[in-house]
Amino acid sequence: MKNNQKDKKMKLHKKCPECESSEIYATLVSARGGCGQDLLPGVGGLFNGGEFELYVCGKCGHSQFYVPEKMLDDVQKKFIRVNSVDTSH
Ligand SMILES: [Zn+2]
Repeated sequence: MKNNQKDKKMKLHKKCPECESSEIYATLVSARGGCGQDLLPGVGGLFNGGEFELYVCGKCGHSQFYVPEKMLDDVQKKFIRVNSVDTSH
């Protein structure tokens, strides 16, 4: 069961979890839309804004978004963490 979980990450495995194609395309997309909407508020600095790494399967179109590692610091500082730090339960 646990082995299946990691295969779903196109970024790491360069393989589509839906159709198993290895024809994966990647690009960077701005987190700021044309109407001033910012999907990653506070991330990436004032001028650049945040970016997503987008991975798309060339066969079936399945796609995954990732926040680049260099921006995860900002996410950790500025976003609200949804789970408790206490994992003792
Ligand atoms: Zn696919």
